[in-house]
Amino acid sequence: MPRKIPFVTKNQIEEITKIYPTPFHIYDEAGIRKTARDLYKAFSWNKGFKEYFAVKATPNPTILRILKEEGCGTDCSSLTELMMSERCDFKGEEIMFSSNETPAEEFVKAAELGAIINLDDITHVEFLKETVGIPKTISCRFNPGGVFELGTDIMDNPGDAKYGMTRAQLIEAFKMLKEYGAEEFGIHSFLASNTVSNEYYPALARILFELAVEVQRATGVHIGFINLSGGIGIPYTEEKEPNDIFVIGDGVRKAFEEVLVPAGMGDIKIYTELGRYMLAPHGHLVTQAVHEKHTYKEYIGVDACAVNLMRPAMYGAYHHITVLGKERAIKDHMYDIVGSLCENNDKFAINRPLPEIEKGDYLVIHDAGAHGFAMGYNYNGKLKSAELLLKEDGTVEMIRRAETPEDYFATLYGFNF
Ligand SMILES: *Cc1c(COP(=O)(O)O)cnc(C)c1O
Repeated sequence: MPRKIPFVTKNQIEEITKIYPTPFHIYDEAGIRKTARDLYKAFSWNKGFKEYFAVKATPNPTILRILKEEGCGTDCSSLTELMMSERCDFKGEEIMFSSNETPAEEFVKAAELGAIINLDDITHVEFLKETVGIPKTISCRFNPGGVFELGTDIMDNPGDAKYGMTRAQLIEAFKMLKEYGAEEFGIHSFLASNTVSNEYYPALARILFELAVEVQRATGVHIGFINLSGGIGIPYTEEKEPNDIFVIGDGVRKAFEEVLVPAGMGDIKIYTELGRYMLAPHGHLVTQAVHEKHTYKEYIGVDACAVNLMRPAMYGAYHHITVLGKERAIKDHMYDIVGSLCENNDKFAINRPLPEIEKGDYLVIHDAGAHGFAMGYNYNGKLKSAELLLKEDGTVEMIRRAETPEDYFATLYGFNF
């Protein structure tokens, strides 16, 4: 049984393309809301649980508004992400500012909005104090160093990551912040990206809960929240078993009850900053086959390129592809699905078994809803696509128009195009 079934049909796409030409990203409102609701249900045991959606994954205000209606806040790491949150009426502690190498002007904006500031480094304590002063609520990012393992699997390599403070630095930072007037403290950490394992969050939670007990004893500060950050992933291939958010929520609850409750710290709020998990499956990149080429390999040229979805070119990432209208057809052809950049890594798929593709066929590239459009760029003078929303009532709304040549030329000086 194929697990990856598009949330749009060929008929729907044929209707949509009468108004909005390919390529475009399309998002599924119903799916986004369901994922958000399930997340809140899975963590409903924790009073004060909040998801701060990582804006960088899908920076579109319409998406942020939907998530706001589901109770989410935003996680920002730049000026424009803060501005977008402000414009979508996220207020005060509904905004998390988890930045690094932060310019002063961004701390100024975060402070003006009353966002929770999450400091990436101990030197940022003085920097923040001099820039905007120390707020009452503050958070620090932890990096345990070494490699992060689950059982015998190495999940990621925090010791090589530029983020976060050592244990000693975090304790020292909390002492300084307390002296400078902070009253409510948070701990944040991001140890592994795109984990397809129900064990990651519970393991991370246990590390942070034990750290919280230690830090609380060493500094006497009140720890108000623990931010498990992002990192819950999705299976990009059909074979992999997806995460079960209810198992994950329950695993975190167990660690909470075993570590924090006995320490008298059962009032701690759990925060998350999920991006990929929230949005990736709920976005498709829809593109049309425009050329076929038979040389040493079989190529299908499509009207999207790496500018619209960079992950395959950048990480060699797999994205599942469905040829609309041929969902049940035998996959008896082997194709490279390629875009038009003058870069040989501009391939959405390499040696991919697919049904026979004819010019004019529509291809759905799955799991493009997070870190998809957002990572886009303008190499080769290619223009970014539109973003559409498939609403719960089945209608389609454009939530970002496609770029035009005028947009591309707009920042040049001394020439008019
Ligand atoms: C990127 C990022 C996230 C979201 O990560 P996902 O892998 O999309 O869940 C959360 N927090 C911070 C600080 C990030 O940089």
